[in-house]
Amino acid sequence: MGRVGELEAGIGFYWEGMRDTDLFQLALGLSSPWTVTRSEFDAHDGRLDLYVDFPRGSRFACAQCGREGCAVHDTNDETWRHLDFFQHRTLLHARVPRVTCPECGVRKVATPWARAGSGFTLLFEAIVLTLAKAMPIANAAKLLGEHDTRLWRIVGHYVWQAVGAMDLSEVRRIAADETSARRGHDYISLFIDMARRKVVYVAEGKDAATVKEFADFLEAHGGQREAVSDASIDMGAAFEAGIKENFPNAEITFDKFHVIKLANEAVDDVRRQEAKNNFQIKGRRYIFLKNVDHLTPEEKEALSRLEAQNLDTIQAMQIRMNLQQLFTMSVPSARRFLDRWNTWVQVCDLGPMKKLAKTIMAKSDGILRSIATGLSNGVLEAINGNVQAAKRKAKGYRSKRTLKAIVYLIAGDVLANSPT
Ligand SMILES: [Zn+2]
Repeated sequence: MGRVGELEAGIGFYWEGMRDTDLFQLALGLSSPWTVTRSEFDAHDGRLDLYVDFPRGSRFACAQCGREGCAVHDTNDETWRHLDFFQHRTLLHARVPRVTCPECGVRKVATPWARAGSGFTLLFEAIVLTLAKAMPIANAAKLLGEHDTRLWRIVGHYVWQAVGAMDLSEVRRIAADETSARRGHDYISLFIDMARRKVVYVAEGKDAATVKEFADFLEAHGGQREAVSDASIDMGAAFEAGIKENFPNAEITFDKFHVIKLANEAVDDVRRQEAKNNFQIKGRRYIFLKNVDHLTPEEKEALSRLEAQNLDTIQAMQIRMNLQQLFTMSVPSARRFLDRWNTWVQVCDLGPMKKLAKTIMAKSDGILRSIATGLSNGVLEAINGNVQAAKRKAKGYRSKRTLKAIVYLIAGDVLANSPT
């Protein structure tokens, strides 16, 4: 707020002739014909009331067509909550005129400190959005002493306005992933513009239809589906089918995160089968899924004891660790490496690992492309983590629409359009 400097400079020169209302006038950034005419401080209730008014005979612009100099028709008293002055709840009061516009008829004027229909000033709304990015709405509501549905209305207004105004004409490389919306079974899909590293679309569900929805949204926002050259996705059939169908020029990339995730799932399948007959590996799931460098000394010791035995799970783990080396290689060596790795896995006796290798080989072009392009869903993994953390802190969201709004708020670009 550049105003603080102005205000301080003003105090130095004009303090003696200045009334408290002039100070509030400066702090609120009001301009003619609006002036602060009166302030009332109630020490008992800790409340500050500021009265804003305009001189008789003032003229205003029509809020609909912008025509200047329209005469006042009548006024209506309104109140807005403003930022607290220190710990004191602050309310702004004004009689808001309706003007007679020769073009539009009788229209309410726009107030410079608040948008139409909001009971809050723009500065207050800006604080709400900032808090909503950092904490659950319920906590922000408690902090501000407001009901959370009023805050949701503010968040919803700015988020959906920003989503509606999104410009996607530059989108070339995308990534998509799903994240759980509620416990277990319910999903939303996130679409990312890799250049911006921001979520540009959130769809309900995780099937191929979400990709079509995104393609339609892209084109409604200045983008072109033919212009999309790369799509980084998981190895599930749904996104792949959706991309092939809706983005004819997109090369598909299967990134490292998803390859490792799939390999971990295969290792876990082997472990679960083996745990039925081997009590030593029961409850030791994490040892086999973590990277060896991330294990504690106690875990490392347990692992080396297990390694001494001829365990299927240990063999599966070695297969996974070996596969991980793929992502440190150049494309030609990675291709040769993958063939050797596959030959090795196919002679082992582990069903889930053989199945893994089959999938990896079938998708090898997309996997090797991720090595060539360096495209990775890493940014999405981080966003997923933030979304899930926000969800946990909020103890879930009442509806998918509110969850979507929060995703746009914390992982999209919407604060660029915030009120101040
Ligand atoms: Zn007008």
